[in-house]
Formats: sequence, structure tokens, C-alpha cells
Amino acid sequence: MIDLRSDTLTRPTPAMRRAIAEAEVGDDVWGEDPTVRALEEETADLLGKEAALYVPSGHMANQLGLYVSTRSGDEVWAHEHHHLIGDEQGATAVLARALPRLYSDGIFPTDELLESWIAGRGDVHRAEPALVWLENTFTGRVVPLAEQARVTGFAHRHGLRAHLDGARLWNAAAFLGTAPSAVADGFDTVSVCFSKGLGAPVGSALAGDADTVARARRGRKLLGAGMRQAGVIAAGALYALRHHRERMAEDHERAAVLAARITELSGLPALAQTNMVLVRTPAGEARRYAEAFSRHGVTGLGSGASIRLVVHLEITDRDVEDAARRIAEAVEEL
Ligand SMILES: *Cc1c(COP(=O)(O)O)cnc(C)c1O
Repeated sequence: MIDLRSDTLTRPTPAMRRAIAEAEVGDDVWGEDPTVRALEEETADLLGKEAALYVPSGHMANQLGLYVSTRSGDEVWAHEHHHLIGDEQGATAVLARALPRLYSDGIFPTDELLESWIAGRGDVHRAEPALVWLENTFTGRVVPLAEQARVTGFAHRHGLRAHLDGARLWNAAAFLGTAPSAVADGFDTVSVCFSKGLGAPVGSALAGDADTVARARRGRKLLGAGMRQAGVIAAGALYALRHHRERMAEDHERAAVLAARITELSGLPALAQTNMVLVRTPAGEARRYAEAFSRHGVTGLGSGASIRLVVHLEITDRDVEDAARRIAEAVEEL
């Protein structure tokens, strides 16, 4: 089986397991785990922020990002398909109790939209806008840094804060050939995942200024996620950060080859965006096509009219070629 459902499926490599086995640890709730501290410091440095907080999941990093920048009832401006909205069980309503205001076109808000949303501010009927949310990469697509700067500039001119859901920020940086700090630039808070394309077993981080991260640290404890000898898992994340960022460009190249080969062999339109390939199927047929792919030994996630295939560090050139051939066989059979 060539499993292309997600880059979260990656398992720790032998070298990463050695780093985990040898990790120095302490009680992180008391701030005494040297491996967690090293991970937090290196993450903050890479992102060009003062501080960072290690958390169990990207979901928690996002929710803490929301928690530190909104009060109950405040507006967070986001895209309908952001992870915050569709993939966190409505935690936005349950925890920070913020009010999402959503757009659905494009992968970033236009100036017209931002201007129209700020226009009614102060009206007694309106919720108070507090936070603008972006995601990069957004389902594999890279949001141009100039657009990010435009949006964070707007937010700050109007006294709003800006958060970047950078679960795959490392992919965006590798794709653009730029430093992670350039992608994180201008945001008050940034969440990043170690457990996706970087290949670590567990964890994410929230980065920002020292005060904000101190409040997020209290918020993490509030949620019951103070972790004791967390260096055991942080060591995997630290190893990934040091050794797996550079190689992400290989995933992007393989994704591009996979998309091209799928189209060549099966005739299905396929588009590579960083480490994700979106295969277009006839409308409403994605699930049926994905089932056929699976019968031929390739798994992906199908919904609506597209199937998502994600390339990651366990996927080789050979897998890419095999996957394209098996998909062609599956399409032939449909
Ligand atoms: C995966 C993901 C998250 C959440 O990460 P988990 O560790 O799975 O909770 C948040 N945002 C985006 C864009 C993601 O892809």
C-alpha cells in the first residue's frame, strides 16, 4: 500500500529514535526540561519571535493563539476552509468563544473585504473585531508573502492582531527558498507543527512575543496540557527541526512529478502544490475514485471533486512512479 492520505503518517526514523532515547529530560511544568527548552528556543529563533511554547497538537497551538488575542464575543476573521473553522470541533465557540467572520473565495482576504468588515466597527450592534487569521500553506498552496504583509499591515493599522496557522509553514519556507522567519514576519502569533512533513511523532508550537507566550503557557496548563518529562517527545521534534527541514524540497519535487505522471498515465487533471497533489475527478465522484485507487494500493482523501495525495519523507521516487501507474489502472477499471 502506498499511503498518501497525510504527512502526519510519518514515523520516527532510526536516527530520530536515537535522539529520543538519549534525550535529557526534567519536569517541564516547572520549566526544567532542557530538551523542551532547547526546542522552544530554536523554534522561536527560526520564526524570528521572542518565545515559543511546545504543545501536544497544532489544534491546541491554534486555540491558544485564539485565546491570547480575543475576548469572549470578539470577531476572528478567517476563511471558511481554515483548519480553525472546519477541523477543530468548534473549539473556537467552546474555548475562546470568539465569533468567526468568514470569507470563502481565494486564499487570503482582499483589501475590499477587509475595508468593508472594518467599516461598521463601533456600531452598537456589532461584535468587536480582534484578530485576523491566515493559513500558510493553505491546503498545500503558498500564500504570497506580499499578501500576508498587506493583511498583517491592515490588521495592525486598525489595532487588530494577526495569527498565522503555519502547520505547514516549513513547507512554505522550503518552497519559497526563504527563512521560516520571513514567512512568520508580521504576525503576533504563529502556530507550527512538528508532526507533519517534518516527521516528528508528537507536537506543535505557538510562537510570539514573551508576554503573549507566557499567557499561552498559562492557557496550556488551564487546558490540562502541562507535560512533565516532555523532552522524550520534544527530542523528536528538535531532531526534525534540525535535520528534516532542508529535505522538504524533495517532497515538493516528488509531488510535482506525481501530478505530472498521474495526468500523463490516467488523463486526470492533477495539480501539485508544495507536498500535496490534488487530483480532479468528475463532480461528486472523488470518493468513488478514491475507493478505486485504494483497491489498487494507493490511499488518498477524496471529497467533492478532488482527491488529496500527500507526499512525505517515507515516500520514495519508486513509490511515486508506482502510485501513478496504480492510479492509471484504477481509472481504467472505473
Ligand atoms: C494539521 C493541521 C492543524 C492541526 O494539527 P494537529 O496536530 O493535527 O492538531 C492545524 N492547522 C492546519 C492547517 C493543519 O493542517
